[in-house]
Amino acid sequence: MINANNPALSSWIPVPPDSDFPIQNIPFGIAKPQGKTPRPVTRVGETVIDLSVLADNGFFDELDIDNYGVFYAPVLNDFIALGKPLTNAVRQRLSDLFNKDNQELHSNTEACKHAVLPVKGVEMMMPVEVGDYTDFYSSIEHATNIGTMIRDPKNALSPNWKHLPVGYHGRASSIVVSGTGIHRPKGQRKPPGSDVPEFGPTRLFDFELEMAFITGKGTKLGARITTEKAEEHIFGMLLFNDLSARDIQTWEYVPLGPFLGKNFGSVVSPWIVTLEALEPFRVAGPLQEPKVLPYLQFTGNRNFDIQLEVGIQPEGCEETTVCKSNYKYLYWNISQHLAHHTVNGCNINVGDMYASGTISGPTAGSYGSMMELSWRGTKPLKLKEGGERKFIEDNDTIVMRAHALKNNVRIGFGEVVTRVLPAIK
Ligand code: CA
Repeated sequence: MINANNPALSSWIPVPPDSDFPIQNIPFGIAKPQGKTPRPVTRVGETVIDLSVLADNGFFDELDIDNYGVFYAPVLNDFIALGKPLTNAVRQRLSDLFNKDNQELHSNTEACKHAVLPVKGVEMMMPVEVGDYTDFYSSIEHATNIGTMIRDPKNALSPNWKHLPVGYHGRASSIVVSGTGIHRPKGQRKPPGSDVPEFGPTRLFDFELEMAFITGKGTKLGARITTEKAEEHIFGMLLFNDLSARDIQTWEYVPLGPFLGKNFGSVVSPWIVTLEALEPFRVAGPLQEPKVLPYLQFTGNRNFDIQLEVGIQPEGCEETTVCKSNYKYLYWNISQHLAHHTVNGCNINVGDMYASGTISGPTAGSYGSMMELSWRGTKPLKLKEGGERKFIEDNDTIVMRAHALKNNVRIGFGEVVTRVLPAIK
């Protein structure tokens, strides 16, 4: 058994250059092979591996798993609920089975025939049933940009911002998997210079480049999670496009915050990358000054160096990259998110999702939303094949990508593809 993160590992399953899914990744997802029910899978290169077939063939029998149903479930919640000792053991076991020096699975032609499938032949589904969804606002660059535009350039950050990770409770029902088309939402918007609202499709359709983590260990009402213990409760992360209708949002958000401008669709990557796979990519976060309250203090490196990018592809045209950012810019980290979320005794459940907030970097090309990239529409972005964009137009496809890279090992999340459809009549 060689540690699943070892850069020297290679697989008998082909891995193309620059793949997000080398043998060191072993992410988890839910796939629906043709004519079959959705089931848990992992991925190496362009290949998905059906965990239910591996379970059928006894490949997990050495592990101490009582609930074998987790390998046949249509969502990963019960698998994640096994807890890190067991889910990590499954990840390690898969790493061993895919190792080029291991013939156990490779030589079992019958098992391979059913378990090893081309990714193009399966439909990727929502990886978890999301119970509760929380969205934070943890990029100081993003909060400063938005505050500069809609508040006051001299006091862009609200007075609480450096003292707590600002967040709100979002809507879980409209979180959907990559590839799902999202109709331009209609709603109330107030035209500039008017005192009364009008009704119609949003004119300011935007994306937000975010990442989200998923909790894998719940708490009881009244219990708190410390920053020291927080990562024990976090199963893994995915890439997250938090779609936003800026005109609807601007009119409705006072005094209780985001509502219909945000809950018409958020799109996630189908692959959950475990915290363990991200371990080699830990980095320090920005210095937090003023010093935060004791319950938000932490030790060690709690940020991750994950490169992010967003492209816009108009129908029938080439994609234009509009943003390159990095997860490491986030001011507040996931341990602080969970410590803050539960400091009042709020309980959490397995499968809950927590998004980071838009991840903007320090330069104009690294802003994580059209609102910032086009500076509220005042600086349109030029597209490769002509044309420009202030915000997203109908039939545009938004593509987000994320990967970490070190020692020639690239751990990626795959793509989040969002096709923007015209408003429903
Ligand atoms: Ca957001």
